[in-house]
Amino acid sequence: MGKILVFAEHTNGKLKRSSQELLQAAAASGNTVVAVAFGSHAGDVTAALGHNGASEVHVVKDASLDAYNPEAFTANIAAIIGKVQPTIILASASSTGKDLFPRVAARLGVGVASDCTTLTISGDNVTAVKPMYSGKCFATVNFENSAVKIVLMRANQLPVAAADTSKTANVVEHAAAAADLKTLIKEIVKGASEKLDLTEANIVVSGGRGLKEAANFKILNDLADVLGATVGASRAVVDAGWVGHGMQVGQTGKTVAPTLYIAVGISGAIQHLAGMSGSKVIVAINSDANAPIFQKATYGIVGDALDIVPKLTEEFKKALHH
Ligand SMILES: Cc1cc2nc3c(=O)[nH]c(=O)nc-3n(C[C@H](O)[C@H](O)[C@H](O)COP(=O)(O)OP(=O)(O)OC[C@H]3O[C@@H](n4cnc5c(N)ncnc54)[C@H](O)[C@@H]3O)c2cc1C
Repeated sequence: MGKILVFAEHTNGKLKRSSQELLQAAAASGNTVVAVAFGSHAGDVTAALGHNGASEVHVVKDASLDAYNPEAFTANIAAIIGKVQPTIILASASSTGKDLFPRVAARLGVGVASDCTTLTISGDNVTAVKPMYSGKCFATVNFENSAVKIVLMRANQLPVAAADTSKTANVVEHAAAAADLKTLIKEIVKGASEKLDLTEANIVVSGGRGLKEAANFKILNDLADVLGATVGASRAVVDAGWVGHGMQVGQTGKTVAPTLYIAVGISGAIQHLAGMSGSKVIVAINSDANAPIFQKATYGIVGDALDIVPKLTEEFKKALHH
């Protein structure tokens, strides 16, 4: 048995569910689980890392690592990998993971499997499955001649059990490694939404051109508020300028795999399906009974979204708040 290094992502010290998934999968494999966390709030996440299966946690509590910087993160993770000597590295296929780990893999001369949806760990061996060609087929990835195997998993693909608060981890602090910075983040401008990021959300309500106009996204926002959901969109309405690109689900947008995905006035083009067909339950609302989205939907409602969505909101309000 070897060591699995899990790159822990957190928001101001709150561990992301996607990292919890990785830690618990690593712990279930019987390997030693080591976690690494960066940023000035990294100290706040060490307890949660222990509760979820890490026996050792490496932190670099440096403000220069609060926001993702390719050169700084690569230098620091490479330094930790040198100390920990893991056989497997697990990270989320987030925008950070997908930028950082190909750099790390190139530096170490090892393999990386990105955007994976299934993970099997057996001793030092790891097999992952990843969708290809917008989900039209799946590739099974094994590693050969790779001293370290790096797997980047999509969020919401692995089960999460309640964390065991009796478990703790040894914490090792490091000073930030020197990095030859070629870019510098000057400012981060937050989007308007305070809701959970689409890729982390448990429920997503998405709107398409069937909503007729931008103002009608209000009925989706109302439904999302009642359900505690995050609002997404098809590319057609993003291109039309109704909503920002950060809300786009699909091949050229975000990949989501929530427990519940409600597609409102979305036809179900292959490029949209590529971003949401991993959802556990899909509900489609569309006025055209032959819309392709119904072929993927668990439940379908044929009718006018502008009429149906407010009614659903009212019914959910009654059902959930009594
Ligand atoms: C390279 C490439 C990448 C792409 N990437 C993406 C991507 O990442 N994400 C993405 O979404 N698309 C992507 N697309 C675009 C994709 O092909 C579709 O054009 C887009 O998804 C269509 O958006 P839509 O379903 O909102 O609109 P439409 O296809 O116009 O569908 C609107 C739907 O609303 C229904 N409708 C109309 N009125 C009502 C009503 N009153 N109530 C209920 N339903 C109603 C209609 O029956 C129809 O099914 C990409 C395309 C290309 C070529």
